[in-house]
Amino acid sequence: MNDLLEIKDLTIHYVTDGGTVRAVENLNLRLGHGETLGFVGETGAGKTTTALGIMRLIPSPPGVVKSGRIIFDGEDLLTKSEAEMRAIRGGKIAMIFQDPMTSLNPVMTVDKQIAEMIRLHRDVDKAESLKLAGDMLELVGIKRERMHDYPHQFSGGMKQRVVIAIALACDPGLLIADEPTTALDVTIQAQVLELMKKLKQQFGASMILITHDLGIVADICDKVAIMYAGRVVEYADKRALYANPTHPYTIGLFNSVPDLDEDRESLNVIPGLMPDPMDLPAGCAFHPRCAYATSVCSESKPEMMEAAPGHFVACPIRGRERK
Ligand code: SF4
Repeated sequence: MNDLLEIKDLTIHYVTDGGTVRAVENLNLRLGHGETLGFVGETGAGKTTTALGIMRLIPSPPGVVKSGRIIFDGEDLLTKSEAEMRAIRGGKIAMIFQDPMTSLNPVMTVDKQIAEMIRLHRDVDKAESLKLAGDMLELVGIKRERMHDYPHQFSGGMKQRVVIAIALACDPGLLIADEPTTALDVTIQAQVLELMKKLKQQFGASMILITHDLGIVADICDKVAIMYAGRVVEYADKRALYANPTHPYTIGLFNSVPDLDEDRESLNVIPGLMPDPMDLPAGCAFHPRCAYATSVCSESKPEMMEAAPGHFVACPIRGRERK
């Protein structure tokens, strides 16, 4: 079966008076039907820009999709009209943002917000859409008698449940969740993630989960893409990547996660900072921070290579070591 989503050579820039931000550079990704992809990287790596690119929500200006293809369900989203994209957004691809208040209308009761999304994409009358809204709320663990409440009457975790209900209301094939639990208390985070995992299976949707948390990825993802300075630097099945992190940046990420079993006084943080996306280093963008770097690393951009079956890495030095 074909992949549900295939991104080919996607490049997105923000052109400002101060210079060009190279947010996403020649990005390639695949996502199969029913799979969950963890999209991991630091703030500014280009994860959210990629997600907004899929939704065709890059603010323009200053954003420009310079090149690439985003094939969803066999069709290139970059060739769709705005009207066609409106039908796809919410209907076939839904996005959950970090802060639920970004998505919720503070002056509308939650049942009406869910019903509005349903009527936008499905041929049902108002009464039916409100009934379905109540069903969706129950599905995410909110009692039907609270359906006429306003967002401010709910806690942060409950608000994010409402957002999940809106996102799943039209049974989308792809759910993109951008740091969906970062704004929530730690105890609530686990509940919301568990709910998303359960509902994703129940609805049979594919999911892209944007996060900087490798623990969350370990819990719910099938595949992992590690992103650095606008590029995917490693991509593999979760088990393969966790068993054998190969790109030096990925190794650095794993080393900087606290390990309760180890008696370490300090964490091994990756030296240096993410480069300025307006002024990326020549060659491999990671070379100023890389312990494995050689003279060639500052000269040529590393191509993605298959270090092991299904395990791709944009580092010839580490990739060859694995072969
Ligand atoms: Fe490090 Fe060179 Fe590999 Fe880049 S290409 S990750 S600098 S070893």
